[in-house]
Amino acid sequence: MTHKDSLAEFATSKLRVLERRNLRRRIVETKPESAVEVIRDGKRFISFSSNDYLGFAQHPAIIAAAIEATKEYGAGSGASRLVTGNHPLFSQLEQKLARLKGTDDAVVIGSGYLTNIGIIPTLIGAQDIIFADELSHACILSGNRLSGATEYIYRHNDLDHLKELLSQHRTEHRHALLVSDGVFSMDGDLAPVAALLELAEEFDTWLMTDDAHGIGVVGEGRGSCFVDGEHLQVPLQMGTLSKAIGSYGGYLCASQPVIDFIRTRSRSFIYSTGLPPSAVGAAIAALDIISEEPDLVKEPIRKARIFTAALNLPEAESAIVPIVLGDTERTMSAAKFLENEGYLVVPIRPPTVPNGTSRLRVAFCAAHDDEDVNRLAELVHSFLEHDSAER
Ligand SMILES: *Cc1c(COP(=O)(O)O)cnc(C)c1O
Repeated sequence: MTHKDSLAEFATSKLRVLERRNLRRRIVETKPESAVEVIRDGKRFISFSSNDYLGFAQHPAIIAAAIEATKEYGAGSGASRLVTGNHPLFSQLEQKLARLKGTDDAVVIGSGYLTNIGIIPTLIGAQDIIFADELSHACILSGNRLSGATEYIYRHNDLDHLKELLSQHRTEHRHALLVSDGVFSMDGDLAPVAALLELAEEFDTWLMTDDAHGIGVVGEGRGSCFVDGEHLQVPLQMGTLSKAIGSYGGYLCASQPVIDFIRTRSRSFIYSTGLPPSAVGAAIAALDIISEEPDLVKEPIRKARIFTAALNLPEAESAIVPIVLGDTERTMSAAKFLENEGYLVVPIRPPTVPNGTSRLRVAFCAAHDDEDVNRLAELVHSFLEHDSAER
């Protein structure tokens, strides 16, 4: 057996095991027709799977801005921004982000994932300590691991548990980071940001919120630090341009020294090519629409609440509503059932969510028809009834 054969055999046997456990993943050829309609295998579906909560990925003015930026500055950026420099759109975008979040400055990095694995190890090192919510996004946990810091995971949104860990361990270390999703990506609930900030202050710990699903949706589009008219001074506010913003890229909003330090030392900023001009141009246009159309920003949560009310679920706090079915096979068959009725809702399985909590993750978009939202609720209801009758 050659070394090539052993490699293919390794991958094949791994895939076989995953297949058996219903954990093999496949990418399906899909063509977007509008913000919420897609074509698969020649059939039209309404999708409730996308994170494009405002329909901006298909918005004519945003597409036009992407084309304009491409014509003006080219298809790609050529190298890291530290090498080829900033075209004027980068500073425009960073200033707009900083203004939206109420911070001195912002830095835009390749993607949300690259942002987290870049900033966390730049600020926190092996002598330090990190406290993270157990449901934090995978790339936060990757960033934590890369930092080499001691990591303590607290139970989801459990402030007592967090306080206990802070009391026990904070003083043993030089610097400490507390990190949490602002809006949890697979559960759709909010972090108790005000309480986290208080604990962070009490225990001399830096707080970072990941607002990948918050920007453009909660707090009038400004994110989880701005819910209910608040303006919480979280020192590290990161997020992505790839979801409600409809484009691509990640960002960190923070004080001037922190941003300057990230631009100087963060490996995923220094050693990775700058975003293509089209992505930057699109994100600028999207932020402009968010500040000009406050009513549009309210729509994803309004749709989500129609859905949660129809199914007697706890009222939606964001554009994401989970329907936890537990069993992976049952979740896959629920998704199949909805697909047969013309609705795409992504089934989420381990390791994306903890074992035994497989779920449908329903994501709402400003462009969904209320009628489709109600119809989807009826279908979910009928699946749940049938399914429990069979059990
Ligand atoms: C999607 C997501 C990211 C990663 O952002 P990308 O721009 O898609 O790389 C980071 N954090 C959270 C909470 C996310 O949901």
